[in-house]
Amino acid sequence: MLVFFATSWLLASALLAQDKPEYTEPSCTDDKLVCLQIQLTTANYSYFWMSSTARAEITVTLEVSGKNTLEALPVAVTETLEPAQKLNILTLRHAPAMPEVEIQEQFSWGWGSNKAEHDNTSTYYLPYEIGKSYPITNAYNGDSTHSGDGVYALDFAMPIGTPIRAAREGMVIATKDSSTEGGPSNKFADMANYITIRHPDKTIGIYAHLKHLGVAVKVGQYVKVGAVIGYSGNTGFSTGPHLHLETYRRIDGKRRLTIAMSFVTAEYPRVILERGKAYKAVK
Ligand SMILES: [Zn+2]
Repeated sequence: MLVFFATSWLLASALLAQDKPEYTEPSCTDDKLVCLQIQLTTANYSYFWMSSTARAEITVTLEVSGKNTLEALPVAVTETLEPAQKLNILTLRHAPAMPEVEIQEQFSWGWGSNKAEHDNTSTYYLPYEIGKSYPITNAYNGDSTHSGDGVYALDFAMPIGTPIRAAREGMVIATKDSSTEGGPSNKFADMANYITIRHPDKTIGIYAHLKHLGVAVKVGQYVKVGAVIGYSGNTGFSTGPHLHLETYRRIDGKRRLTIAMSFVTAEYPRVILERGKAYKAVK
């Protein structure tokens, strides 16, 4: 869910000698969702443009190191890009008398806005069928994978193939169900199948560890609470069949901050779910 992209680039002085502005070849993620392009002008300015073809907000962090610019390096800039936006995220200047500019740049990105504010009046519904209950094996402030930025995440132990329902409405912005692999080690971390949903308050919901071919929605689809969106599994870094659910706000291109969710259950009108318990789904 996080792509880290790095290039290394040496500014050729020949480019500066030309009359009209020149652009470097865009450096893009594999899916072409996010691109970086550098514009070099005869006035010795380097404009760093980041563009997004994503259908929801993304946040990028551009890191530039090197020497012989008027601005101090290294520098890191974080910005949220709206859908289909192209933004001049950084400008560096070079004095003609200075030695040749040397720059290395890399960017990271992730779904979500760093300006999103969670609607704390919003209610979440249990992500499984009405009348069913599944034990919570990891809750807020849980073990290693539910700490730090990921502190407000929930794990529901459930058999592979259990229908997963949307806990909150929103737009599906990313899915993966091509993976067949999972296991109790960090080496499986990139192999989780998942559904990513953008909520109306611009926070992002993640449903993870879904089974192979276990996604039942399409990117761009708007789902209501309770809609069946997929089927649970055991892909990715997982010690047993379960669903991982979290809502987060983006901090920067690398980091997210998970947010506590309050649920409606058969037992409670509004409750923070606790580890070791099982709650019955309503609605
Ligand atoms: Zn988890």
